[in-house]
Formats: sequence, C-alpha cells, structure tokens
Amino acid sequence: MKKKNKIESEHSKRKAIFDRLVLKIEVLTFYGKGGHLKCCWKGCTESDPDCLQLDHINDDATTLRLPSGERMGGSGMYKYLKSKNFPPGFQTLCCSHNQKKELINRRNRGKL
Ligand SMILES: [Zn+2]
Repeated sequence: MKKKNKIESEHSKRKAIFDRLVLKIEVLTFYGKGGHLKCCWKGCTESDPDCLQLDHINDDATTLRLPSGERMGGSGMYKYLKSKNFPPGFQTLCCSHNQKKELINRRNRGKL
C-alpha cells in the first residue's frame, strides 16, 4: 500500500510538471511572433520553451498583481492570463532579448 502511494505521488508530481509546461507553451505561443512559439524580437528565431519568457511590453510588471494581491509570475501568471482570455500588454521574448530590452531601458534611463 505504501509503495502504491509513492508511485501515485510521483505520478501526480510529473503530471503537475507536464501541465505547467503545457500551459506555459499555450501562453507563450499566444504571445509569440505571429501566434507561434517564437521570440518577438525582430530577426530572432528562438523557439525553445525553456529559453522563452513572457515580457511585459510596457515594463509594468511591478504594478500587475493577481486578484489575491500577489505579484504575478510563473505559472500563476500564465493561469491568470489564460483565465482573462489573453489580455494585451505582453509578448514572448527569449531570455537574451528580454535581458537586452532591460539593458536598453536602463541605458535610456541613464542607469548604466
Ligand atoms: Zn530572441
């Protein structure tokens, strides 16, 4: 009986990881270039979901909160965006271009 519970627990853990990945791919595809799982940066062809992130187009990540008051991030944000039928204000960027956008913004604000 104990062994079965361990197997069920492992199965539940793997299913949760799989479900989070499926949700991430769905959201990143919606916000990706042309509705595809791709970085939106001009000329970039990155499509590996492990290398893609959701970007707040207007850099307002700190002002966006879940209904619970918590800051949006990760799976919670993906669930929220899907439940709101994918509102505007987001785009998919690869890790490199998300970082590049941040550096450009910091330079423009005179902080680099
Ligand atoms: Zn990119």
